[in-house]
Amino acid sequence: MKAIALFSGGLDSTLAMKLIIDQGIDVLAVNISTGFGSTKDRLEHMQNMCNQVGAELKIIDIQSEFLQDVLFDPKHGYGKNFNPCIDCHAKMFAVAKRIMEAEGASFLISGEVMGQRPMSQNKEALQTVLNESNCDGLLLRPMSAKMLKPTIAEIEGWVDREKLEGITGRSRDRQLELAKEIGLADFESPGGGCLLTDENFGKKMFDFIKYDKFEVKDIPVMKFGRHLRLSDGAKLVVGRNKEENGYLQDIENDKFFHAKTVGIPGPHALLSKDAGDADRELATKIILSYTKADPKKVYTISYDGVEQKGSPFETREEANKFNVL
Ligand code: SF4
Repeated sequence: MKAIALFSGGLDSTLAMKLIIDQGIDVLAVNISTGFGSTKDRLEHMQNMCNQVGAELKIIDIQSEFLQDVLFDPKHGYGKNFNPCIDCHAKMFAVAKRIMEAEGASFLISGEVMGQRPMSQNKEALQTVLNESNCDGLLLRPMSAKMLKPTIAEIEGWVDREKLEGITGRSRDRQLELAKEIGLADFESPGGGCLLTDENFGKKMFDFIKYDKFEVKDIPVMKFGRHLRLSDGAKLVVGRNKEENGYLQDIENDKFFHAKTVGIPGPHALLSKDAGDADRELATKIILSYTKADPKKVYTISYDGVEQKGSPFETREEANKFNVL
């Protein structure tokens, strides 16, 4: 008997897998990546969690499917920010079901806890998700199982419902107790969660789609730097520190020039390739304003090797006026 787990790396989904593995069932932990998860150390963390509970880990990249089917026209709308959580969950369950069939597994599990998040995890939203993904009956949520209708795995006797949990609400007390019981270590996830739930990230997304078609290759551009919209509509992204400069430098996206100061230290920046002369001049002024350059002197910025001369604004506030964020 095998189950597919929708695995986020968080405590709830790790415990959900453990509850099933303890009943002698193999679990394949599937992490579905929309591209908007925050970066760094997550893979290592997920592998660590899976090792501790004895699940195999598989990462599934659905970035283009997510942009095409979910992000820009969600049937159930957005949450507080740019997060289409109900549609996103439905997509994830549909993908998990595909994997279940391909792997010859018998049912799905997830770490969802009823009433934990106001919009996406109330009973009605969970039911909508199941209907949309044709997963009704197949999805077992071990953390709240006793509070929910029995699923196929419980009805068929593959899983003993009595050994599952009946957790509801936002308190994590029971989860922490379970973690302690099984000796789970280092379970706090590194970094934040999904960027789409972040208010500032949402503002950058809304700004982007007002001017351009958003594609998979644009996702990394959105994750770093100060984002500015110039007078004639070009987009400028300026690194705010060494780490961001490093990330921006590595981005390969043919919609953008890589811009660098010549002869003086300065941030790494990206400028839309379709920027007109006026916007390129403005970008030059702005980039220089984030250096220690003297407003009375002339400096050079290289845009993929093409040089443009300019001087910084008198004050950084003048550059900040173009900030989207
Ligand atoms: S928080 Fe992000 S990943 Fe999670 S359901 Fe919402 S949109 Fe999807």
